Amino acid sequence: IDTHFNKINPPANQFKLNGHVVSIVPFGSGHINDTFKVQTDSDEKNAYLLQKINHQIFQDVDGLMNNIKEVCKHIKSKLSHLNAEEVEKHSMTLIETKNGESFCKDEEGNYWRVFKLIENTKSYDIVETPAQAFSGGKAFGQFQKQLSDLPAEKLTEILPNFHNIDFRLGNLKEAIAKNEANRVGQVEDLLSYISNRESKMRTILEMGNRGELPVRITHNDTKFNNVLLDEDDKVQCVIDLDTVMPGYIAYDFGDAIRTIINSAAEDEADLDNIKLNIPLFQAYAEGYLSEAKDFLTENELETLLHGVYLLPYMQAVRFLTDYLNGDTYYKVHYSDHNLVRTKSQLKLVDELEKHHEELKLILHDSISV
Ligand code: ADP
Ligand code: MG
Ligand code: MG
Repeated sequence: IDTHFNKINPPANQFKLNGHVVSIVPFGSGHINDTFKVQTDSDEKNAYLLQKINHQIFQDVDGLMNNIKEVCKHIKSKLSHLNAEEVEKHSMTLIETKNGESFCKDEEGNYWRVFKLIENTKSYDIVETPAQAFSGGKAFGQFQKQLSDLPAEKLTEILPNFHNIDFRLGNLKEAIAKNEANRVGQVEDLLSYISNRESKMRTILEMGNRGELPVRITHNDTKFNNVLLDEDDKVQCVIDLDTVMPGYIAYDFGDAIRTIINSAAEDEADLDNIKLNIPLFQAYAEGYLSEAKDFLTENELETLLHGVYLLPYMQAVRFLTDYLNGDTYYKVHYSDHNLVRTKSQLKLVDELEKHHEELKLILHDSISV
């Protein structure tokens, strides 16, 4: 019996599983929750996915699980043309506890939940081919489309202000004023780069505030490893629903592009290595718009490119804020790590600006096919 078994088995046994649990092993490459694959002795051969919810980040577990329940139910209602088995391949299935709840709490105060594990799927940390990028875009376009008629008020804003640039810039200004780590003097050039772009980066927020953009239900963690693909790299299902909440669609698009279009890592120190991978951008945009162009408004289509600029910019603002605060939020591996991350993300903004016309044309072409 493996070492995880004894510790994890009691919470697993709280849920309505088919058969008896025979093994529990760590699973996947997520960084937020602790995820385990649970195998039972049932004939159905179905495995389960047991997760210890990261309660540090998600304090309102009730609100969080209610969001997930609503979203799963709504997505399933859009798959009524499929048989039961197919529906479970293309949507997340929550397993209730024996008390009929969507999660349980153990004696140590940890929260647990169980989904059905979707078998024979792949999830990649890094996009390597245009076909994969297309599937990633299609997955999140489909996801937004499936949720486009679920009223945003039904969901809790589980991480308030998560993509609110005013909030992030406000935190940066506070960090400058406090100058906790005595580092403001070193970053004057970065601060002026950021401040020069403030009004441009507030575009989406202002359009939203003027009522020009619908508040929709967005994923808010559009990393590629949150999409399950089948063996032919075709979309199977969008997973990791913790951050699903009301928002603007361009935030999801921009955050996916932030990593897909960057040929280097988020913390690349050699800025010359930060180049745009335009074919992957194009493939993601085509995949996304193949699903999304039907339901997006003219205004929303116009915000997509703003989102592409905004997300790396906002990430830079967050890294720089943490640098000025003395590295209290992000894990750092060396003393200037947050500064390197800031410069790296701003270099990406720079590259994007240089290729503005090309990116705009690609989006335009993907919309009009
Ligand atoms: P985190 O928030 O920690 O990223 P995820 O919900 O993304 O947690 O789950 C972690 C990993 O578990 C995913 O990257 C994926 O590999 C795998 N996974 C999650 N849900 C499923 C599922 N329903 N079926 C198969 N694999 C899954
Ligand atoms: Mg994940
Ligand atoms: Mg997550």
